[in-house]
Amino acid sequence: MRWPCLTGRSVFEEFDDQIARPLGLQDFRRDRDTQYVTGDDSVYPAYPFRLSTRDLAKFGLLFLRNGRWDDKQLIPENWIVESTTSYSDAGASGGYGYMWWVEADGKHFPGVTLPKGSYSARGYRGQYLVVIPAWDVVICHRVNSFQKGTAVSKADFGKLLNLIFAARPTSKKDIEQPSASTIEKQSEFDLIIRNGLVVDGTGRPGFQADVAVRDNVIVAIGQLAGAKADLEIDAAGKVVCPGFVDLHSHAEKGLVSDDPARRAAPNLITQGITTVVVNQDGGGPLDLAKQRQQMQHLGVGMNVCQVIGHGTIRRHVMGDDHERPATPAEIKRMQQLVKDAAKAGGFGMSAGLEYVPGRWSNSAEMEALSATVAASDGVTIVHERSSGSRPMWFLPSRDSADQPSMLDNLQELIDIAAATNVRTVATHIKARGTDFWGSSAKMNEAIRAARAAGLPLYADQYAYNTSGSDGRIVLIPSWVSSVRDNATAADSAKRTPAEQLQLVLDDHSLAENLRQDVDYEITRRGGAKHILIVSHPNKSLNGKSLADYAAKLKTDAVEAAISLQLEGDPKRRGGAQLRAFSMSEADVEAFASTPWTATSSDAGIALPSDGPVHPRFYGAFPRKIRRYAIDRGLITIEEAVRVSTSLPAEILKLKDRGIIRKGAIADLVIFDPKTIRDTADAFDPHQFAEGIDYVFVNGKLASDGQRWLGSLHGSVLTSSHRAPP
Ligand SMILES: [Zn+2]
Repeated sequence: MRWPCLTGRSVFEEFDDQIARPLGLQDFRRDRDTQYVTGDDSVYPAYPFRLSTRDLAKFGLLFLRNGRWDDKQLIPENWIVESTTSYSDAGASGGYGYMWWVEADGKHFPGVTLPKGSYSARGYRGQYLVVIPAWDVVICHRVNSFQKGTAVSKADFGKLLNLIFAARPTSKKDIEQPSASTIEKQSEFDLIIRNGLVVDGTGRPGFQADVAVRDNVIVAIGQLAGAKADLEIDAAGKVVCPGFVDLHSHAEKGLVSDDPARRAAPNLITQGITTVVVNQDGGGPLDLAKQRQQMQHLGVGMNVCQVIGHGTIRRHVMGDDHERPATPAEIKRMQQLVKDAAKAGGFGMSAGLEYVPGRWSNSAEMEALSATVAASDGVTIVHERSSGSRPMWFLPSRDSADQPSMLDNLQELIDIAAATNVRTVATHIKARGTDFWGSSAKMNEAIRAARAAGLPLYADQYAYNTSGSDGRIVLIPSWVSSVRDNATAADSAKRTPAEQLQLVLDDHSLAENLRQDVDYEITRRGGAKHILIVSHPNKSLNGKSLADYAAKLKTDAVEAAISLQLEGDPKRRGGAQLRAFSMSEADVEAFASTPWTATSSDAGIALPSDGPVHPRFYGAFPRKIRRYAIDRGLITIEEAVRVSTSLPAEILKLKDRGIIRKGAIADLVIFDPKTIRDTADAFDPHQFAEGIDYVFVNGKLASDGQRWLGSLHGSVLTSSHRAPP
């Protein structure tokens, strides 16, 4: 409040002359609506204003227009930028500038995510002025603060924002709706991307060309120097390719969220994904029509293909009595549900054969259901019975050693493909565990031979040496927690995991079982050298491997794992937070080099404010191009693009997508081969990929590289979007 001292004029006089009059505020009257307020808090008086909603909205619009009103610059543009830049952390509100609250990582109001660059002014008891430059929107909210009980909390305002965002028009047509007489089309095209290297998704060498789009369709490719478009992008030095098609996505939950920012899928859109295949690993809802309606009604950020989950239908038919093979009658009922799903627009079936209840299915059941999938020309996407020498649920102390390996499961898939001719995907293919490392050679050879024999067998992969479950590993088996001595149930329940472990160690035969199981789990998770201590009460251990810790204790890895539980956080299962790197990079490379392995993310939708996720959530597709094509040269850029676009489209029999050609749908990515890279890692996963400059979904801009736009231009695709058999 230095202003009056410096200028001799009151803040209100100045506001009246320089802002209120030029803006044409209709309701503001200086004598009535302003007053200085003094108090004990400060030697400087406060200077509250009263503004009507429309006047406040005009003030917001002035900021949205960077200080310009008609042809006058009322506020210097650099002041707008400076005052709406955050200089201090404001916790859940994001940050704080000069009297403006500023969004940070989407955080601004509770329960809602705002686009980057949003800011707000907040007044007494629920007066809010929100400016969202990314969407060209000002939101104004007032309450009668003189009346008791009218206050509106930030949480309630967050809910209101969610509703407003959900109703936001997302396409130009929604906004303009011009009448026939006023249509005056000046541009031939909606979009021209000029001078880019077109990598069309087929794998053929890139070629220099302009690409033009009208509505949602690619209408011209070639020299378009004379043509005009509403949006013209110079892509010199950049690659123009089809949007990426993600064969294994867990986006279905996020896509029906109340929060439109989540439905816009920032982590997926910014890595170039424009179509996802959801309901993986045997999961998802039974009613695909309802799921589709929900997504269409709410609006989603990308295109969606649905499959029906085998686990979902198995549970529906068998109920809790599912720990056995299905009877022929039950298989018949499941087949009917698979048929219903295809009729509802589904693209096939997913299975999770390492999970409950899929793990109790047998080959006969899988073959019968695959035959039904094949009858509607669908695809079967199978999470393996085991991703290594044994399934993830296997414990040497408890289960018989005779369990399916990844190779056994692959043979089962080959047999099913041979019997039914169903297009079959060995999904998120990997070779987990040091006792299984190097098996990529045998696995790839099995797939190659099957394909050479004419079988429609494929794979998909997120090319990382750490898996999702590697991020929360516990080396101590879960049965330890249920061991009881003669203490009362109440006393037993009070024991910490460390005390439970001690109980087991005190019993000779249980201790032997324990050591056997821990030893196996260490092997399965990539060995002691590849298991990292992420968080331990003794901070000097963070970042050390289990092998380092064992060396320090002068003991072996099993005893070190036991010591982590006994000496670490006694209340935490396992005693410390661990991450494993259970795959070998050589195997990852071997899978990534094959022409039948599509790129996938195995990711859900994440917002930067979410808890830890796998880095693939943000980087799976750019990583394939950066590491395996550009840096290591295992495949060409054209091939890396092909396995991320036309290959998955071919597997899905998706019509007019995954390819750049005249008549195809304009799902497009423009990336810079010099800068494209994934930046998320296991320890800092919420990092957007770099070098993906533009993403278009159905011809509409979804990300422009600097900004993720929060748009909802996606559509749920159905059988009508499939190529005829
Ligand atoms: Zn899976």
